[in-house]
Amino acid sequence: MLSRLSSTASRYTVRSTTGLRRTLLQKRLYTEKKPEENVPKGFEGFFGKSNKQKPATEKPKPTNNANSNKPNDQQKPPEMPNNMNLILGTTVGTYFLYKAVAPSDNARELTWQSFRTQLLDKGLVERLEVLNRNRVRVHLRNDANSLGVSPATSFYFSIGSVEAFERSLDEAQKELGIPSNERLPVAYHDEISIGQTVLHFAPTLLIIGVIYYMTKKGPGGAGGGIFGVGKSKAKMFNQENQVSVKFKDVAGADEAKLEIMEFVNFLKNPQIYEKLGATIPKGAILSGPPGTGKTLLAKATAGEAGVPFYSVSGSEFVEMFVGVGPSRVRDLFATAKKNSPCIIFVDEIDAIGKARGKGGQMGGNDERESTLNQLLVEMDGFDSNQHVVVLAGTNRPDVLDPALMRPGRFDRHISIDRPDIGGRADIIRVHLKPIKTKVDTEQLARKLAALTPGFSGADLHNICNEAALIAARHLKEEVEEKDFEDAIERVIAGLEKKSRVLSPEEKKTVAYHEAGHAVAGWYLEHADPLLKVSVIPRGSAALGYAQYLPKDQYLYSKKQLLDRMCMTLGGRVSEQIFFDSITTGAQDDLQKVTKIAYAQVTTYGMNDKVGPLSFSDPSGEQQFQKPFSEQTGTLIDNEARTLITDAYARTLTLLTEKKGDIEKVAQLLLEKEVLTREDMENLLGRRPFVEHTVYDEYVRRPATQSEEAPPDFPKANDDGTVQ
Ligand code: ADP
Repeated sequence: MLSRLSSTASRYTVRSTTGLRRTLLQKRLYTEKKPEENVPKGFEGFFGKSNKQKPATEKPKPTNNANSNKPNDQQKPPEMPNNMNLILGTTVGTYFLYKAVAPSDNARELTWQSFRTQLLDKGLVERLEVLNRNRVRVHLRNDANSLGVSPATSFYFSIGSVEAFERSLDEAQKELGIPSNERLPVAYHDEISIGQTVLHFAPTLLIIGVIYYMTKKGPGGAGGGIFGVGKSKAKMFNQENQVSVKFKDVAGADEAKLEIMEFVNFLKNPQIYEKLGATIPKGAILSGPPGTGKTLLAKATAGEAGVPFYSVSGSEFVEMFVGVGPSRVRDLFATAKKNSPCIIFVDEIDAIGKARGKGGQMGGNDERESTLNQLLVEMDGFDSNQHVVVLAGTNRPDVLDPALMRPGRFDRHISIDRPDIGGRADIIRVHLKPIKTKVDTEQLARKLAALTPGFSGADLHNICNEAALIAARHLKEEVEEKDFEDAIERVIAGLEKKSRVLSPEEKKTVAYHEAGHAVAGWYLEHADPLLKVSVIPRGSAALGYAQYLPKDQYLYSKKQLLDRMCMTLGGRVSEQIFFDSITTGAQDDLQKVTKIAYAQVTTYGMNDKVGPLSFSDPSGEQQFQKPFSEQTGTLIDNEARTLITDAYARTLTLLTEKKGDIEKVAQLLLEKEVLTREDMENLLGRRPFVEHTVYDEYVRRPATQSEEAPPDFPKANDDGTVQ
């Protein structure tokens, strides 16, 4: 096989054993002496035309394909793109291997017939050499030159078997009348080609290569190869780079910000504290429901602190190798100490910080436990004058090991709750900034905050984004108020299912069901104020819904819970009043009611017979065992059932009395599909109670009042409800 590197680096050609010349680069320049020059006269039959008939600079013909129409070789090759280098490198590598395996440059392959007619019959052959029992090398006589063949050129041909070759050679020489003492000498050799040998080892080499690559890269991707797997994967941030979040981007959460700010101060000005004999706390756990801004707050700390900030996720300590977790913890702390003062932030610390000694037999836990132990040891190990502060975030502070929480480790516990209405308005203001809208953002933020009780910061961010997406879908130039309302509805109830067509009977059932909820809520004193009722199918299961505006309320009285249960049962009761049979549509309502009933009996101690006991088990310690006896279990079941049946009976009485109202609401619903509070007021008159909706209080009050601390807002339910 032939391959030549001509005067410019880009000119490569490879010739296979059959003489086929392949162009490696699309264009090539081919000016040097070509192998065809060695071809003897009269060999055109299988080598193409003799060179004598063509100038050397002409386009070379592939040796066994005289008619190939290759591009003009004199053209300059086009500029190579940079990523061609890799291809080129690979090709050159392959070429060298190929060359090593292939016969030498001047070797020409023949067939037996060509050998016979072109060489043997003309008496040009001096001797033959059988190589590896499958190939015959032909040595020409010295005087072959005079006949137009260079003796430097070696020819070879392949044979099926040595016996068949010997037979054919014998016959040929017999036919030529060569006496037996002058017959061609045939030698037999075995040659070991380096290339062939390398090829045999190729799979092994490949495997070794892959293993080497893996050790270089390291399964944990930590760099430093397989031996670097124990290195911590914490990312380091400086306030100058990457972190653009500042405390001003974290709306609300003022108490949490204050606490964190204190840590930042410890690190910036430790002398103020140390002067008075105080030791600097070692760590703080940020806990709270998902999406309340724990990570955001930690990032903002990085942005504000002005000290290096190492961020790592708890799960990054866990790897399939034993001992990696503790080793990464050690490494993290070692790096942090070198760069002190600094902050380490461990997100989702529950991945390693779960209470030890649970389910240890399941395997895999030991690794987690030793990682946690190492963390405890490290936190104990560094002195507070080393100025390394560890912050950790978790949604599940209840499952954390008590040893983590003791003073001296995570001294402070900062809990971040879902924002209240003022907090929500602040968060919405932050996320409204990038949104293009002409609506008065101040008023909008208040309104959206009032409509989104219980939403977390992440939900609110989602709503602002969703509104922009909805506006973009309708090709609007800017986001309108309605888009925000649609976004809330979408987040609460799911996407409108226009494709879901209900049969008229189903639609009627849904309308009476929702009207039942709405009317029950209308006449129950402690039920939340209604916002809208809809019979447009949404999400995966909801065929209709009634949306209420609950208050930001942290305590509920028994009366309130009862009214809520009755309102939730309203749909089912209405179905019973208006139709002979009941449907499966109330499943979700019944689940909610059951939950409220059981919670009253088992968690809130609100049942007289069961007494003031609470069996709630948030950390899931009693997974397989009930913390009460069979007898108490039966009592709980009976009491919960009684609660629900009583609520049902109460709702039935109420709705039977208000049957006419349900009829009116349902008919209007069937006509308009969506009813607002105003529609309800027009139909049924105002609610027979003094109503203080969040909406009225927060949105309709003068905008000049500061809502950071709405003075009377949290105490606003003077309708007899317990705060
Ligand atoms: P987690 O508490 O689960 O760590 P994140 O901090 O990741 O929650 O918050 C998710 C997103 O929610 C943030 O990227 C941000 O857009 C939004 N967010 C949450 N809380 C706030 C807040 N107080 N101010 C502004 N945005 C917030």
